[in-house]
Parts: sequence; C-alpha cells; structure tokens
Amino acid sequence: MRTKKLSIVQGPPGTGKTYTSVAAMKVLLREIPKDDPPILVACQTNHALDQILRQIAVFEPRYARLGAFSKDPDIVQRSIAVLREEVRKVKMADDLRLRSAKRMDVIANILAHDLAALGPEHKVLDPNQLLEKGIISQGQIDSLAHGAAGWSQHVENAQAPLELWLGAARVPTAGAQAVQLESNAVEDPETEIEAFRGTEAENVAAGAEAFENLNGRYICVAHSHTGKKSALPAAMTLILEKLLKAKDLWKIPQACRGHIYCVWLNKYKDQISEALRSTATALLEPAEDRRIGRWERDLLVLGNQRIIGMTTTGLSKYRALICALKPKICLIEEAGESLEGSVTSACLPSLQQLILVGDHQQLRPACHYQRHGDALHMNLSLFERLINNNVEYGVLSQQRRMIPEIRRLLFPIYGNILTDHDLVTQKSHRPPIKGMGNINTFFLDHTWSESKDTDLSFVNTQEAKMAASLFAYLVRSGEGIDKITVLTFYNGQRKEIERLIRSSQCYRDQANPNLEVRTVDSYQGEEKDIIILSLARSGTDTIGFLGNVNRICVAMSRARRGLYIFGNSGLLWSKSKTWAQILDIMAGRAGKVEERPWQFPCRVGSSFPVACEAHQRRTFIGDPYAWTEINDGACQTPCGKTMECGHSCPRLCHFDGQCKCRKCSGDSDPA
Ligand SMILES: [Zn+2]
Ligand SMILES: [Zn+2]
Ligand SMILES: [Zn+2]
Repeated sequence: MRTKKLSIVQGPPGTGKTYTSVAAMKVLLREIPKDDPPILVACQTNHALDQILRQIAVFEPRYARLGAFSKDPDIVQRSIAVLREEVRKVKMADDLRLRSAKRMDVIANILAHDLAALGPEHKVLDPNQLLEKGIISQGQIDSLAHGAAGWSQHVENAQAPLELWLGAARVPTAGAQAVQLESNAVEDPETEIEAFRGTEAENVAAGAEAFENLNGRYICVAHSHTGKKSALPAAMTLILEKLLKAKDLWKIPQACRGHIYCVWLNKYKDQISEALRSTATALLEPAEDRRIGRWERDLLVLGNQRIIGMTTTGLSKYRALICALKPKICLIEEAGESLEGSVTSACLPSLQQLILVGDHQQLRPACHYQRHGDALHMNLSLFERLINNNVEYGVLSQQRRMIPEIRRLLFPIYGNILTDHDLVTQKSHRPPIKGMGNINTFFLDHTWSESKDTDLSFVNTQEAKMAASLFAYLVRSGEGIDKITVLTFYNGQRKEIERLIRSSQCYRDQANPNLEVRTVDSYQGEEKDIIILSLARSGTDTIGFLGNVNRICVAMSRARRGLYIFGNSGLLWSKSKTWAQILDIMAGRAGKVEERPWQFPCRVGSSFPVACEAHQRRTFIGDPYAWTEINDGACQTPCGKTMECGHSCPRLCHFDGQCKCRKCSGDSDPA
C-alpha cells in the first residue's frame, strides 16, 4: 500500500477498515518529507470523518477539517473556520477577499435602498423614491406637502403627507401579518433521514453537505399596506390615467386615491424588479473573487497541515482549493459507497498515490433518482468498477466484531473469506445476551400484514409491537439501552418502533436514554452489541429492497453479540436467494457441511424463546400480547432467593431485584 500508485483494499464488516486506514496514515506520515503537501483523507459521512480524525489526532496534531458538520468539540477546533481566525490578523499585500467584499457591500447597499421602501415597517412608499424612479413629479410632491400642511402642524417624515393624502384609502395587505423569518436550521441529516418517501429506492446520502446556512444581510420585502380599490363609476375609470398627471394631487377625488396609489406601487415594483436582476448579476463577479480570496487565505492555513480531512462530497466542493495545495497522496474511506464522480474529482494533476478503502458488497453510492442509479449505473462506485475489471486488490479478512454465530450468517455474501479474531470467541469479550438463555441469534417468523403510512413508507404494526417489546424485555433483563439498536429498512417502520419504545415504561424509567432506532441505509460503518432487525414486509408478493444484497449485508453485520430478526421467512425464502441461504443456515439445514463451519440448533421459529436470567426457564412469546405475561418477571417460577431474614422469597420470578418477605412484614397480600 505504501508505494503503489493505486491501492484498493476491501474490508468486509468488522475487519477494521478505519484501523487500517489510520495505520496507513501513520506509516505514510513517517516516510514522506516533513515539507510535503498534506495528505488528503475523505470519508462518506461526517460521522465517519470525525471518527478517523479522532484517531489521527492521537499521533498527528497538525490536521485540519474542511466542512462544517463536525460534532466533536476537539475536531471543531481544527475546522477551517476556526483555523482561519489565526491568520485573520495577518495582513495580505493585496487582499482580494477584502476588496471584493467591499464591492459586494456597495452593490448590496443599492439593492437595500430600493427594497427597503417595501419593508413592512413603512405605512406607505416614500414619495422621494417615487420621484427618483420618475413615477411622480417634483410638482406633485410639492402639492402633497402643501396640501398636508393644512391638515397637520408639523410633518414628521417624508411619507407622512402621502399617508395623510391616502387617508382611508390605505388598507393592510392581505397576509401581511403572516410574514416572518423562517429558521435556516438544517435538520440533523443522520438522525432524521426522510429517505424512501414515495419510491423505495430513492434515498439521500447521510450527512451529505447539501445545505449551507444562509447568512448575511436580511431585507424583508413585504409591504404592509396598499391602496384600497373602491368601486368606481365607469366614467371615473376612464380618467384614472389622466389623474396620474394631476398637478395638485389633493384635487384627485378620495375614491380614486387608492387606485392611483396601486398604480404607483406596481410601477415601483416593476422598476425595481428589473433593476434587481441586473444588480444581482453584478454581484456574481465579486462573489467569485471573494471565494478565491478566501481560498488564498485558507491556503496559508491548510499548507501548514499534514493531514486534511473532508467528506467525499467535500472533495468536489473544495476541488479548486484542494488542487492549489498540490496534494500527492489521497486516501478515501468507504470508497465502495462513494459516487464515482466524487472520487475522480480527487484525481488531481499533482496526485501520485490514491488509496481506496471500502467494501463494494456493502451499501452502494446513493443516487437521488432511481433511474440514475439503475439505468445509468451511477450507483456503481469507482471502487466496484475497478474490482469488476480485475484490478488487483487486497482483502482484510479477520473480523473483530461478530460472534461466530452471527458471522456465519454472512456466508452467502462473503463465502469463507471471513475469519474470527480470538476476541469474538471469548465469552469475556462477547458475553451471551441476558434474558435469552444462550440464544444469541433468532429469526421470528410471522405472517402479520404490512401497511403503508402517510408518507407511503411501509409499516408492520404487529411486528413493531413485537420488536419494541423485545427491546423493553432486554433492557429489563439488564442489557443497557445504549447496547441495543433497532434497525429497519423502512422509515415508516422506524418511526413506528421509535414511537412505541419512547412511550414504554422501561424507556421512561431511564435517566438519560440514548435510543437508537435507525434505517439500514444510515447505519453503514456502525455497530452495536445487540441488533433487533425489523423487516416489516409481509402480506403481499414482493419484498422490495429487502432483496438488495448490499443492504442485507449491512443489516446482518452490525451486531457484536446478538441479532434478532423479525420477518416473514416463507416470503423471503421464495423471493431472495441470499435470504434463502441465510434462513437455511439459521434453520440448520444448509447444504454442504463445509459451508456451515458452526452448527447451532434451529434459530428460526414462530415464537420467541426468552429465558429468565435467574432460573434459565424458557418462555415462548408468539405474539405481542404474550409479553404482558412476563411483565414483572421472565418466568412463572417462584423467585426462591434466600433473603437476609433467612426465609426464601415467595414472589414469582421478578426483574426488579426487590425480594420481599411476607412472613416478616406480616403482609398477607400475595405479591
Ligand atoms: Zn425465572
Ligand atoms: Zn425475589
Ligand atoms: Zn422473612
């Protein structure tokens, strides 16, 4: 990897892609000359970028991060926005940024001057601005002031005479009060992915830097009042045009004044909207100059770093800036999930070495439109394309995440490539799931029907109840909320399960519950001790993208110690070869013995086999209502623990740990 121009490394789940990337960084930094340009590191998501930078920071303090979505306070300190402050005081001989900012200010002032007249705080237009635009004459202004003088002792402002003249013909604009500043806050793209609305395959890249907050001067264009157009006799309508030229405006009949004012207002709007267009166009050039000026300054900052991190979207967004740094080495993480365009934009003229780390068997690049993905093959990453074309690549094969019982389920996808690190076979590192009596994987088979929610996403209410109840049960059995993630392919199902868990007693009992209910598409690169996978589809003849092998791969490989799946096994078996193989392995009926190095009893069934921690007695849960039977305890056996008083606890097997002696307390009420 150290000397090759192009290195491709496939890292299946749990094989330590990030670890390998960081190790490569360490070696490269040691070997390249100290004054070499910085090494680029790009990741698919902001979350992944923070993760890798955190590990790099341990041995290399001189790193910077482009883009604004870091959640790590230490990394924020290394963001370009913060580092920029350090050079803000440094005077540049000819600061293009300042010069163009001044030019932009001048133009903005012109815009503001014209637009301000339409601000909601003004009761009427300023007659002087009407004069400026040639809409009324100086004589008419004078007549306004002259006439107004008779009504009022002193004139407070330029608008007052016009306001007086309009009188009752001035009426509020319809909807004027509804105008308010809308928040520019970007929803957290990683927790609230509204993917899969409408068509199934439409999805949004998590963490894509698609939005930037608007900032700068704010001018509200929403005039609060207009002229009242009272009904006029036909004869009057005809002379309106003539009235516009009246020398003394006060001679215009009151009934016509609203009409006249509306004509002025419309003329004013027409004129400024024309002018706005050309003035706004004039902003483009200094704006571009200012951007270049900023980059000139950013170069001062970035040139001093040894590593620069950004998202793959950032690679194209900051391409000009990056190009000016003349980087020689670029490493791209999750390259199997990156659009080909993003990666090729990193292939700058100065580049000597490109390292792609990823896994084309996990999620593919996300396209906003399905037709771009499937018909135009835009969901094919450069990584996968190179591998498909027999470019040499290495594979990381030792996995440190999943217990063998879970890892064996990836056989249909990776064959026998994956081997287990010692860590995952040791019970001290991967203890069995509490409350499950050594059953660490299980497929609950059901035929409950799916439905669609208001966003046309799939929901399976019965299954959601079952999954939420299992979640609560595991928490009561002693697995922490932060050790469990519920995964589902559909946002509708995700929302339903999250709603159920949030309303459950066990959730409300927690002090600071860190609940994770996520879609598979947002969960690549992450892992948890226990995964509850809710497949939702059942009742029709299709399984939608449950059949997508890349997604199956991600869904099956997130769990370290326990994986519990809910779905319709018959439907999956008949619709997907991969699911059929997985189900065969789980049911213990896989074809050749050598294909199933780890044998376990059947892990598929129509009722869920829980087992209480205290007695290891099995209870089978076949439907959501059955969970209520084990509300307080996991089995129907008496607790029987010997208490301090010497008696044994008469309560039925219970979760709460509060053994209670009826004989000593004299409490005859059966618990
Ligand atoms: Zn028990
Ligand atoms: Zn007890
Ligand atoms: Zn007692």
